[in-house]
Amino acid sequence: MGLIVQKYGGTSVKDAERVMNVANRVVETYDKGNSVVVVVSAQGDTTDELIEKAMEINPKASKREMDMLLSSGEQISVSLLAMAVEKLGKPVISLTGWQAGFKTDSHYSAARIHKIDKERLQSELDKNKIVIVAGFQGLNKYEDITTLGRGGSDTSAVALAAALHADLCEIYTDVDGVYTADPRIVKNAHKLDDISYDEMLELASLGANVLHNRSVEMAKKYHVKLAVKSSLNRNEGTYVKEVDQVEKMLVRGVTRDNDCARIALCGIEDTPGKAYQVFALLSKHGISVDLIIQSIGNGEKKDISFTITEGELDNTVKLLEENKSALKIDDIKVKKDVSKVSIVGAGMVNNAGVATTMFEALYNADINISMIATSEIKISVLVDQKDAERAVAAIHDKFML
Ligand code: ASP
Ligand code: MG
Repeated sequence: MGLIVQKYGGTSVKDAERVMNVANRVVETYDKGNSVVVVVSAQGDTTDELIEKAMEINPKASKREMDMLLSSGEQISVSLLAMAVEKLGKPVISLTGWQAGFKTDSHYSAARIHKIDKERLQSELDKNKIVIVAGFQGLNKYEDITTLGRGGSDTSAVALAAALHADLCEIYTDVDGVYTADPRIVKNAHKLDDISYDEMLELASLGANVLHNRSVEMAKKYHVKLAVKSSLNRNEGTYVKEVDQVEKMLVRGVTRDNDCARIALCGIEDTPGKAYQVFALLSKHGISVDLIIQSIGNGEKKDISFTITEGELDNTVKLLEENKSALKIDDIKVKKDVSKVSIVGAGMVNNAGVATTMFEALYNADINISMIATSEIKISVLVDQKDAERAVAAIHDKFML
């Protein structure tokens, strides 16, 4: 018995039948004597459909109005789920993000949670009610609605779990948990029983589509015990924990991220300060750069290549073209069909052979690597997008079998 926060994603509440399914699971948890707070996402593809509606009218709609629109998806879900719980005869109340006390900064469409004013939540819990909260949304200091970025309901759930000192935060989705690789790409991928916050954070940032990366960051910071489970079966799921509580495996997972593009700046002057000038320009415009390599200069010229997300490509190229002569760049080359393939594992820290094994797997599969980046617990390589799935499978086989 305790306080449990459960979060159900869009596929888990996509239609009336699924909503009833969730209601039954919520009530089951409640009937065991727990206090239950439930966070829900918008049903099915609602958020995408709302974005389409907006684009039909004004593709340049302000982010403030987009947030006003998109937050409505979650408001539908909470009311429907509350009605379903009512039908099962249990005390329940639905709350929007602002009713639940979510205060955010004013960064529309990517707001960060500042704090949660818990009075309302607490008083409803004190009345023994199941509290259903709209994910993905809050209120800024102007009392305008903000959203937390795509997939942000996970973060709403973890924030609630942290604020209410919940005993467990369960994230329900349509997969059984966190896998060693995307099961659609790698047939023998298997579910992990547990994984550390750091590993999960890397996997989430590197393209494993299970948890919003900010939710993992927050879970780590506030020591929220997280479980990722399926709402469609009773399987155990994956627990996300402190590093010292998990087995330190060499490699935990292989991911692929197609949302990247490579820009090569060729023939830049080989003098001190060039990299600084280029990346200062990009960061001034809010463009975040991922992998970077610089070739060895010859005293006159050198090349710098880096990757960004595809969404930032046009902006970035325009910006660099405008500054091409000021930065003394001969040529700007762009490659869009690239993918980042990464391996993650807390056990990598003290093991020198991991990179070699990864490169060997790629060599055996005849896949060319165009960039490499490493950190304590991950290694990423950039490959042609057409090779990415094969790369994931080859690396998975090499390490897991
Ligand atoms: N409905 C929002 C989205 O699709 C938030 C979420 O599902 O977590 O991004
Ligand atoms: Mg999600």
